[in-house]
Amino acid sequence: MDLKSMLMSMAKEAIGLLFRIFLFKIVVRKGSLIIFMFHRILPEEGIDPFQENLFTTPRRFENQILAIRKAFTIVDIHEWIKNPLTEARACAITFDDGWVDNYVHAFPILKMHKLPATIFICTSMIGTSKRFWFDRLSHICKHITREELASSLDKTASIDQSLFSDRKRLFTVLCASAKEKHREEIEEEIGRMENVLKTKPGSERSVLNWNEVKELSQNGISFGSHCVNHTVLTSLQIGEAIEEMKESYQELEAQDLCFVPIISFPNGNYSDEILTKCGNIGYIAALTASYVQWKRQENIPLFPRLAISNRTSANSLFFDILRILKPARRP
Ligand SMILES: [Zn+2]
Repeated sequence: MDLKSMLMSMAKEAIGLLFRIFLFKIVVRKGSLIIFMFHRILPEEGIDPFQENLFTTPRRFENQILAIRKAFTIVDIHEWIKNPLTEARACAITFDDGWVDNYVHAFPILKMHKLPATIFICTSMIGTSKRFWFDRLSHICKHITREELASSLDKTASIDQSLFSDRKRLFTVLCASAKEKHREEIEEEIGRMENVLKTKPGSERSVLNWNEVKELSQNGISFGSHCVNHTVLTSLQIGEAIEEMKESYQELEAQDLCFVPIISFPNGNYSDEILTKCGNIGYIAALTASYVQWKRQENIPLFPRLAISNRTSANSLFFDILRILKPARRP
C-alpha cells in the first residue's frame, strides 16, 4: 500500500469511528433502510486476488455484522418492504450468486446470532458443478499464454500486450469486455480459451445445491432471483431479458424454499424497460449492485445496495454509510 492510500485508509477509519460513536443516531433517520451486499464468505486462503471485492473472511464477516447489529435493526428485506419500520433504523443483509460458502461459512454465523438474510440465486446454477463465467475467466487469466489467448479471441479483438505483466488487469479488461457481450458469445469465447488451456480449474462445487437451499430456508434465510444464468440483462434483447427474469421467478416459486419475489440484477445492470417488465412478472422490488438514488418505476421500486468486502472494517463500514447517506433516504 502506498503512502497516499495508507493515509486515506486511516482517515476513513477515524471518520467512520467518530460517526459510529457520536453522530450515527443523529444523522441516520428512523424509517430508513440500508441494504448490504455480500458475495462470498471464505477463509483467507480461499480469496481470489483477482476478485477480492467479492470476498470476506468469516471472522471479518462476523465483526461486520456485529457492528451493524449494534447500530441497526437487522430485518428481512421482504418483511420490511411489506411493512416498513418507521421507528427503526433498519438494514438488510443480502448475498448475491448463491455460493456454497454462504452455507458453509456465513450460515453458522447468521444462525448463531439469529440474523435474517436473503440470498439471490441463479436457477440454472443451483445443484450443478457449473462455474460462473467470471470465475472461469479468472482462472484463465492466471494461466493463459499470449499465443493461447491470441488463438482463442475473436480475430478483430486486440489485446494490449503489457497486460501480460499485470494479470489482474488482464482479467479486469477481459471481464469488462465480456459484460458487454451476449451470453452465447461469452460462453463461446471462454469455451475456446479453456480448450487451449493446459491447467484446468478444480472440480469442486462452487454453488449451493437445492438441499442446502432448503435447509437455509428453514433457518431464517430467504431466496430471491439473480436470474437464470447471471447474464447482464442489458446485453440481451428485451424478450430474452424477460425470459431470464420470468423463468427464474417461476422456478423459485415452484421449489420448496422461502421465496421472496425480489430480483437482484446481475452486475446491477438494468434499464427502465427491464424494471417495468420485472414488475409485470410479479416481482415486488429490484436491487442494484451499487449505491444510486432510490427509484420507483411505475409498478416497482428499485433499491440501492452498499457492497461490503474483506477490505471493509467495522469502522470503514460506517464511513461508507456516511458517504451514501443522502441516497439512503427515501424520496
Ligand atoms: Zn452476481
